[in-house]
Amino acid sequence: MNRSGRIANQTGAGLWCTVLLLLMWILPGTTPAAEAFQLQATVQQQPLAGYLYYVQDTASALTIEDVKNLPAEAWQHNTRQAFNHGYNDATWWLRVTISNRDNERINRLLEISYPVLDYLTVFIIDQQQQQVLHLGDKLPFDQRPINHRNFVIPLQWQAQETLTLYLSVRSSSSIQVPLTLWEEHAFFNYDRTQTLIHGVYYGIMFVMVMYNLFVYLAVGERNYLYYVLFVCSMPLFLASLSGFAFQYLWPNYTQWNDQAILVTLSAAVAFGSLFTHNFLRLYELRGPIRYLGYVCAGGACVIIIMALLLPYNIVIRTLIPFAGVVCCYVFSSGVFRWYSGGLSAKYYTIAWSSLLGGGILLALSKYNFLPKNLLTDYATQIGSALEVTLLSFALAERINQERRMRFEAQQDALNTERELRHAREQALEIQKQATDSLEQRVQERTRELEQLNRKLEELSDTDQLTGLKNRRFLDRVLEEEYARCCRYQHSIAVLLMDIDHFKQFNDTYGHLIGDECLREVAQAIRRGLRWPSDRPTRYGGEEFCVLLPETDEEGALTVAERIRECVATMEFTVKDAPVPVTVSIGVMVTVPTTDDHFTSMLSRADEALYQSKADGRNRVTLYQRGGDNPPTTLASSAPPQHK
Ligand code: GH3
Ligand code: MG
Ligand code: MG
Repeated sequence: MNRSGRIANQTGAGLWCTVLLLLMWILPGTTPAAEAFQLQATVQQQPLAGYLYYVQDTASALTIEDVKNLPAEAWQHNTRQAFNHGYNDATWWLRVTISNRDNERINRLLEISYPVLDYLTVFIIDQQQQQVLHLGDKLPFDQRPINHRNFVIPLQWQAQETLTLYLSVRSSSSIQVPLTLWEEHAFFNYDRTQTLIHGVYYGIMFVMVMYNLFVYLAVGERNYLYYVLFVCSMPLFLASLSGFAFQYLWPNYTQWNDQAILVTLSAAVAFGSLFTHNFLRLYELRGPIRYLGYVCAGGACVIIIMALLLPYNIVIRTLIPFAGVVCCYVFSSGVFRWYSGGLSAKYYTIAWSSLLGGGILLALSKYNFLPKNLLTDYATQIGSALEVTLLSFALAERINQERRMRFEAQQDALNTERELRHAREQALEIQKQATDSLEQRVQERTRELEQLNRKLEELSDTDQLTGLKNRRFLDRVLEEEYARCCRYQHSIAVLLMDIDHFKQFNDTYGHLIGDECLREVAQAIRRGLRWPSDRPTRYGGEEFCVLLPETDEEGALTVAERIRECVATMEFTVKDAPVPVTVSIGVMVTVPTTDDHFTSMLSRADEALYQSKADGRNRVTLYQRGGDNPPTTLASSAPPQHK
């Protein structure tokens, strides 16, 4: 097998690499025939496919002695560019003869760059002796003669020596034996570059995994989880396939070594499908196609279980076509979402295209349609790294897109809330105004009612004819004043007065003039009073009463006399003729005690009034307690006689 084929087998990247393995199996190259290879000291790297002879031992029954003694016709010459016989249970015997025509000793390294071969035994035979080396990934890693991910055997030729190598190969993987003879320094130089490029690739993957894992832990977005798991599976698969994983991760777990290839590739398929399903929102589609992502992931899970239970060669032959189908699904989904999925779907599609492009470049260079160089050798790694990076961009864009949408939704919600608040404020304002105006109206009405009540009270306390307060008012005020003077032990006086011969007056001048006279008498009484606390009232008919709080006998008599005089001297005329009017007054003065009741004041004043009448009218009489002393009467001129 040539160099490109070997590189492909070592480092085939991602899902496309498995497809390529299938292609390599189906489309073998050819190589010219030669009997024995002659070593040349100047050639640093020599593929040996063209010098291989092989025998298929279907029953796995032959020993090295049987093989050595086989007739020449039993051996078939390998005419293909790579020794590749697909999956089968046979043991394959390979023979290559290499001779040193120089007179110098020559050292070389033989590399078999297909690290997943199960059993590989190398017999190195010269004229005298036979050396046997047991290799293959069914043996622990540290049993290898040279610590390398591929099988590497040191060989030495003495001057003019010929070595015949027999290789016995049996494997549940495909039977590929890419043989290259290396000059030692050239091999390690080449290997250093290889390791560096792989290191860079795994480094990129590691960084992407860690970065996106942290983003997932911070954001909690499930797409990131699928992405991280997908990106973890990919390099693990490549590391398993290229022997790095066996070398560094599980050098003693020989059975797991085969299963790891199946499990990691299935995991990549599962998480790739789930990522695609979730990232491109394929669950929004109608019909059964929306479940395709889950079907792919479920299928991959079934294959993982199969990998743990069934032989490698059965499972790998299921997995490779399945992975091919899933590749078509994820890529075509991206194309399908190109227009409807925004910028992130474009990133996604370009990402998968770069992996696909890498696979195609490798295939084209492998079959000599493209020149071989670093770009084509590592096309799959570059494609895979680009894919992973672009997918990360796609994720970031997707998060941005969702944040934008969330922000817009939030803005909408805020605007709606603001409008609602505004409307609520307006409603409240209207309600407040209504309440205010209602309250104002209620207050106005209450004020009006209070005024009306006051008026009503005033009216009910007022005598309509004279404008003085009436008996009702007197009763109330007298009770209050009486109680107050009782408390402070002040004297209180009541003047009760009655117009003299008023019946006669009425009879003579008529009731209307009588009423007029009553008004004039009321005015005269008012004139006779000085203090605002003195309360004149119309007691009833042509009788008046004046309440004088905090007034003693002397004061009461003075006021009574003044009123009597005011009435007597008022000029009342009927038809321009003066008509004399007089009043008789009874005065009661007391310093109230609790025993006394205010009504008795009035009856006693009435008694005094009666006395005034009896004594000739137009006079003032002071009620005297006990009855021994005659009531004090202030006489005046004779009362009028109306004819
Ligand atoms: P005396 O000097 O003894 O008081 O004689 P008098 O005629 O005034 O007798 P009396 O007090 O009994 O008379 C009351 C009269 O007063 C009866 C009625 O004609 C008159 N009178 C009572 N109220 C009114 C009133 O509101 N208007 C008028 N015009 N006359 C009234
Ligand atoms: Mg009277
Ligand atoms: Mg009278």
